[in-house]
Amino acid sequence: MKAKLLLLITVVLCFFKISSASALTLQYNGGQYEYTGSVYSLMVNDQYVQTSLPPIIFNDYALVPIRDVFEAMGATVKYIDASQQIFIEYNDTYLRLKIGSSDAYIDANHVTIPGNVTPMLIAEAGRDAKTMVPVRFVSESLGLYVEFDGGNGIIKIVDSNAGKQPVLYNVKCSMFDSVTATMELYLDAPVQSITTPVYTEAGVLYFDIPNATHSLANTTPINTGAIKQLRVGIHDGFTRVALDLENCKSYNVALSENKKIILIAIVKFEETENVTPPNSGNGKVVVIDAGHGGSDPGTSGSVGGKTYQEKDINLSVAKKVRDILSANGVTVLMTRDGDTYPSLTDRSDLANANNAVIFASIHSNSASAASASGFEVYYSVQNNESVTGLSSSELASSVVNSISKNVSIRNRGVKTENHVVTRTSNMPAILIEIGFMSNPDELSLMISDDVQNSFAKGVADGILAVINKANPPQ
Ligand SMILES: [Zn+2]
Repeated sequence: MKAKLLLLITVVLCFFKISSASALTLQYNGGQYEYTGSVYSLMVNDQYVQTSLPPIIFNDYALVPIRDVFEAMGATVKYIDASQQIFIEYNDTYLRLKIGSSDAYIDANHVTIPGNVTPMLIAEAGRDAKTMVPVRFVSESLGLYVEFDGGNGIIKIVDSNAGKQPVLYNVKCSMFDSVTATMELYLDAPVQSITTPVYTEAGVLYFDIPNATHSLANTTPINTGAIKQLRVGIHDGFTRVALDLENCKSYNVALSENKKIILIAIVKFEETENVTPPNSGNGKVVVIDAGHGGSDPGTSGSVGGKTYQEKDINLSVAKKVRDILSANGVTVLMTRDGDTYPSLTDRSDLANANNAVIFASIHSNSASAASASGFEVYYSVQNNESVTGLSSSELASSVVNSISKNVSIRNRGVKTENHVVTRTSNMPAILIEIGFMSNPDELSLMISDDVQNSFAKGVADGILAVINKANPPQ
């Protein structure tokens, strides 16, 4: 039965191959051309995918319609007509391409598309143009595996993670401030969803991860904030996660964008009643993100015979901002408070999962010209609505004004850029560049504890000046 079916598919494919190869008229680069190359079918994870335009072979490289193929796999695809740029996000990877260009960026890294082939706009005569991309380059950049089955005329794309039973293998827990414990549960493959958490009268918060197993101990003592211990158990077809809580005021459980981390935040009741400080953030949540970290040092610079790494300066300033905001009644969550590397979407996920009212990422700059200097504050035009009562551009202006009152570093003003962390945050979000590490004079300011304190005061004051307008996203 199976052999017969395979034979039938092969026959149909061969027929398709011959018939369409003779019939395809393509329009691209301002001209019209008869396509006489091979026509392939596409399979994604062993399923045939119907595409609006079949794969087109140029210089031995196959181009495929990006939306039909990669959106079908669950990737996020964006095309900006004005600049002819293509943005693809899949799991942890962020790929940027441009029509007609062999330059590409995988996360922050520049790469050149191999072979004499680039993304193209191609139309079948009389139809709308499709954005076509080199299938092998894009697939492999996103961590997918490509196989050309020339005999059967099939291009196969395989996600080796697809269909794999996810294993819950690691847990991390830390305090972000005096009352909020955050916990991250790590899975080795994506899960589609988790069940809605249930909080029992006995103080147990539990939820299930469908289709998953785990390699953790059945009981792990936590004793952080309101979390006493973590219990996990494998049931028929799912893993149940239970947290034994004490003094729990509120909880939040969310799946990260890459669907491989479960983010949990548990807020406990204060032990003593707190007098609200005058310049109060009223317990609103602000996420402070120290850029880079761990294996990703960011940029670097040298002064006085010593080399400094961006990740360390970012973290030092971020902690000072946290301390000032916390002292003013703001609940501050840090994406990292040590030398670790949360992914870019982990950082905005933390803010989104905790209903933060403001997200601020802290970075340090560099340029090839040693004379470049100054601080600047970025926001993303794709995240500049004022639905929460405050827009990203208002926040950026407030922070720029306030920093300029506190430090002597040159003011380069407010700028826009589609950074992943600002674009994927659901609330007003900014990315602050403290100064240029490539400029030794400026670097000597940036490593000074006094200047860092003043800079952090500028950032915190700029946030406090507008926090009353900011409400949690709905
Ligand atoms: Zn940076």
